[in-house]
Amino acid sequence: MEITGKSIVGFSRGARTDETFRAFNPTTGEAVEPDFHSATDDELNRAASLADSARISYGKLPGKTRATFLRTIADNIEALGDTLIQRASLETALPDKRFIGERARTCGQLRMFADLLDEGSWVDARVDHAIPDRQPIPKPDVRSMLRPLGPVAVFCASNFPLAYSVAGGDTASALAAGCPVIVIAHTAHPGTAELVGSALMDAAKSTGMPEGVFSLLFSSGYEIGQALVKHTSIKAVGFTGSRRGGRALMDIAAARPEPIPVYTEMSSVNPTFFLPGAIEQRGESLVTGLHASVTGGAGQFCTKPGLVFLPESEASLAFISNFKSEISNSPTSPLLTDGIRKSYDDASGKRATEVTDHFEKENSDLPGFSVNPSVFETTTIDFLNMPDLNEEIFGPTTLLIKSQSKEDLIEIARSLEGQLTASVHGTEADLREYADLIAILETKVGRLIFNGFSTGVEVCPSMVHGGPYPATSDSRSTAVGSRAITRFARLVCFQNFPDSALPDELKESNPLNVWRVVDGEFKKG
Ligand code: NAP
Repeated sequence: MEITGKSIVGFSRGARTDETFRAFNPTTGEAVEPDFHSATDDELNRAASLADSARISYGKLPGKTRATFLRTIADNIEALGDTLIQRASLETALPDKRFIGERARTCGQLRMFADLLDEGSWVDARVDHAIPDRQPIPKPDVRSMLRPLGPVAVFCASNFPLAYSVAGGDTASALAAGCPVIVIAHTAHPGTAELVGSALMDAAKSTGMPEGVFSLLFSSGYEIGQALVKHTSIKAVGFTGSRRGGRALMDIAAARPEPIPVYTEMSSVNPTFFLPGAIEQRGESLVTGLHASVTGGAGQFCTKPGLVFLPESEASLAFISNFKSEISNSPTSPLLTDGIRKSYDDASGKRATEVTDHFEKENSDLPGFSVNPSVFETTTIDFLNMPDLNEEIFGPTTLLIKSQSKEDLIEIARSLEGQLTASVHGTEADLREYADLIAILETKVGRLIFNGFSTGVEVCPSMVHGGPYPATSDSRSTAVGSRAITRFARLVCFQNFPDSALPDELKESNPLNVWRVVDGEFKKG
């Protein structure tokens, strides 16, 4: 499939414009063909107007019809074969193997939502029958369920070109909920975006979806993305990236005459606690596990452990020494963009002046956007006195903090910002001893992990990939797992409507056989 460099506006291609940009090969730092053309204001308005027109017809389609659309998107993405894997690898310097796995995850996610739609109970249907002779006033017939929010703007993530980008979790859950989607491609991987966008557009056409159910816009700057968030047709936003970018979009959305929900996933340092029993009993395997988690994907995972707490002990000293030797044996890694490389170098330089120890792999031959993996060390007192040490450094590095007491850890846990995850390594006896710590951590995170590392997010119905601000903008939601669909739906109540005018899920005979709460009883009948 040819990469044209032009946006996708409904079922048409955008124009070749004078404002262009290119992807880069992070391994060499060289630009990669072709030119990508920034969408014009007219194209943005047309994409938004088409999405607005598609809103009602797409939102009212039976769940099974939308499920067929999602499965066809997955089939089309798989049919791109090696072309997609090679382009994603070229634009990111991440290995082919990683993209084979990420493609499986992306298609698995689309099919998971298709299954959810086929089953149908996700709409949370409730029926309360009328009691016309109730005293002192009659009770009306009241029925409610989740309905689509309307067109959603989705911003692609730099670090997941497939699973959190054009047909990634935000798009899949919004389309599943019945919302048209307009995607802003990430400048780091526009070729990958166009390939997936074409697969999605073809799926929309071949399954008879209304034009405007999907558009993909390229932009060399922030203007088009910001204008999209301000557009009156847009009713929600999904974003994965920096705190600065996410916050800017949240503020724009809140300042609209009609404010809209923005689901941003921004920054998390995923505190990891090695309790005394763990470091004594399993020091070696913790070194291997932590190293893989910190350096996997060149440290560019939102769930990377960025803060690691260890007890002051002989076993911890051995752990630190072994961890440093793993770091010195790690390969240098190209980061995704020159901007991310520069942020890594700048933040690492600043942190080196704030901590008690800084160890970096020695290698001055750093081609393209490559950086050296590193590890920082500090004390609990310094950590508590320097809030900047809580900041995420995106890339292959982490901060080790030696603590002298349980009280230290509890004070630190209280001081932490909202996080996607926290991990606790210990024995069952440690868990009992540190119950207060766990209770505080539960208030700070979306996912608590016992004796495991935070990277590697299972896509399954019970997964929570969210957390209090600044990990995300809304701690009540998840970006991964089937509950992500509810972010793009809202409750609508139908009072005293005749059966024939109700959505199928609320009809008296329950023709779709979904689970419902009927007069307070959870049942299918
Ligand atoms: P980013 O700079 O926030 O960019 C994400 C997307 O939003 C890009 O498409 C970007 O446009 C756009 N954007 C950024 N700021 C904007 C603004 N003010 N107005 C409108 N659009 C805006 O994130 P990134 O490039 O992916 O990586 C930079 C940093 O983000 C990393 O160093 C890391 O700290 C963080 N990050 C976090 C996660 C996470 O899951 N928590 C994931 C990835 C990155 P352009 O394409 O034009 O830049």
